[in-house]
Amino acid sequence: MAVSKLLSNSTIKLFQVNNALAVCARSLSTSQVRFSERERIEKKFVLPQRYAGTGESVWNEYAQLAADYKPINLGQGFPDFPPPKYIMQTLSEVSGGENYMIHQYTRGYGHPRLVSALAKLYTKMLGREINPNTEVITTTGAYEALFCAIMGHVDIGDEVILIEPFFDCCEPIVQYAGGKTRCIPLRMREVQGRIPTSADWVLDKKELEGLFNEKTKVIVLNSPNNPLGKVFTEEEMTHIADLCKKWNVLCISDEVYEWLVYKPKKHIRMASLPGMWDRTITIGSAGKTFSITGWKTGWAYSPENLMVNLQMVHQNSTYTGITPIQESIAIAFEKELDRFDSDDCYFKSLMRELESKRDYLAEILADVGMRPVIPDGGYFILADWTPLASKIDLSKEKDQYMDFRFTKWMTKNVGLQGIPSSVFFGEKNKAIGENFVRYCFTKRDEVLKEVSKVLQKWKSQQS
Ligand code: PMP
Ligand code: GLN
Repeated sequence: MAVSKLLSNSTIKLFQVNNALAVCARSLSTSQVRFSERERIEKKFVLPQRYAGTGESVWNEYAQLAADYKPINLGQGFPDFPPPKYIMQTLSEVSGGENYMIHQYTRGYGHPRLVSALAKLYTKMLGREINPNTEVITTTGAYEALFCAIMGHVDIGDEVILIEPFFDCCEPIVQYAGGKTRCIPLRMREVQGRIPTSADWVLDKKELEGLFNEKTKVIVLNSPNNPLGKVFTEEEMTHIADLCKKWNVLCISDEVYEWLVYKPKKHIRMASLPGMWDRTITIGSAGKTFSITGWKTGWAYSPENLMVNLQMVHQNSTYTGITPIQESIAIAFEKELDRFDSDDCYFKSLMRELESKRDYLAEILADVGMRPVIPDGGYFILADWTPLASKIDLSKEKDQYMDFRFTKWMTKNVGLQGIPSSVFFGEKNKAIGENFVRYCFTKRDEVLKEVSKVLQKWKSQQS
């Protein structure tokens, strides 16, 4: 009895140990299986080669930084004041009205009423008849227009000239298309005894000529420029146009800030220069035109044979834009066209308002010891922050580029956010951008006053 009990006890123990070992072994093998399965998945589903090297964009990173630290946000470019009241009313009337079909798909290449309004506007601006159905496309923001224009025209091995500083997404899109970027920087001329302006940043003509060759397919021009605010002169644009004609090159002309040009400068449309309509795709944005970046609607216009390529990319990606949004933007253009020559036209009144904001921000940046570059267009201002370098300790920030460290430090310690300018330069010329921070001035006056206060307070702590 005693023996049998002992035996059964030890059998039970043995059984328990065995069981425990089995459970252990099973869980080990499950976690091994899980681990190798994860590895297997991770290995296979890496970012495809054509996107290799693409990291998180500055817009996503800095929007998060702003959410985390809640600085005064002069980083990402968007107005913080209401758009024209009539536009908001139009959208609510359009979407809440009797015409419920406005909530369904519209024409893929562009809502009929919007392409008509755009064709009418640019026919007037260029003095040539633009066909709304074959020469205009509407897109999900100017971003998609840039995407369609580059993907639709750049083939593997093609070269694309980018003028630095360039709007950052152009570089990766060229890579996705299999093209190769050739960058050329605008360089700041020495100026004595006055604050520099964006017009002091110029291209070296010979350097530009040296970039064109048989492989060159496209040059991207952005005037007025983001982030610099340079408005290219007729002479500068004619030089670029002559090279395009000589080398049979397409110009993708990003003119999203076309209405934001400060006097006495004038916006020149590349497509309006002699011989350039045939080789130019021009891009615009309702976000900039009407202070409605969240409506995410842009467009492109060009001759039909160039437009077909954009249509091919668009039809199999987003296919079509948002109907009530496009209808409302069309109505807005119709209204502005009716009062185009009046001072009340939004294109003019916005420009007037922004000009005084620009001057105010430039003054407060200079006052704190930065060196602003006064922009002739757009709603961003570049400022050389390096005169402040000796007053701050950036050692806690670990980014590769100094402008990233500075802008992050400012966000966390002073409560003001800007955008590091090296993102607008290719690898070789990051050093030019590293000295500058970009601030957006399409903000309410009280916010800009708050910037002044914050900077003054910081300045007083230095001395
Ligand atoms: N091009 C430039 C120069 C821009 O600054 C921007 C964004 N602000 C875009 C294109 C994209 O515009 P959207 O917001 O209409 O997509
Ligand atoms: N174009 C705007 C800018 O330059 C916004 C860009 C973005 O948020 N992706 O700030």
